Amino acid sequence: MFLDELKSECDSCRRCELCESRNNIVFGVGNENADIMLIGEAPGENEDMQGQPFVGRSGKLLDEMIGEYGLSRDKNIYIANMLKCRPPKNRDPKPSEQNLCIEWLDRQIEIIDPKIIVCVGRIAAQKLIGKDFKVTKQHGEFIEIGGRLYTGTYHPAAILRNINNKPFALDDWRKIRETAERNGLDL
Ligand code: SF4
Repeated sequence: MFLDELKSECDSCRRCELCESRNNIVFGVGNENADIMLIGEAPGENEDMQGQPFVGRSGKLLDEMIGEYGLSRDKNIYIANMLKCRPPKNRDPKPSEQNLCIEWLDRQIEIIDPKIIVCVGRIAAQKLIGKDFKVTKQHGEFIEIGGRLYTGTYHPAAILRNINNKPFALDDWRKIRETAERNGLDL
């Protein structure tokens, strides 16, 4: 299956109640052949309006940080969220919603087949790396799961709330770039 076929299937998803309030499904953007995949938690207001992940101030900051290390969503990264529809008022996704939506992400990962998965923020890291993973303590660590390298870093929205976290996130992206190069990935 190709990614655009999966997206067409996902576009009509009504598995959980979030389908009632969404304006758009936010499936993902970027290079479909990328070796690095970035995964956030769920769309916010701007994402829901535009149908794209990580837009607005958070998206701008993310693009700026990854750009420091020659990475971009057009060139060498694919960006998606765990949930494809926005939770009302940006509340945390419920476990039941996460469980119902994760199959879309699993199938996206299977098709894109990234070598490095970067979990952005606590919720994505705890769902995809491990329930005890603490972004504040373990950001920038790499853990091999099922033949892929997983790491966690700060969500740009968290950096906008506390700019002191920005140097830590930049250092995480430096490590991601170095790890990709060390593993001979196609950037
Ligand atoms: S959040 Fe996921 S499972 Fe729920 S309706 Fe949207 S695409 Fe379907």
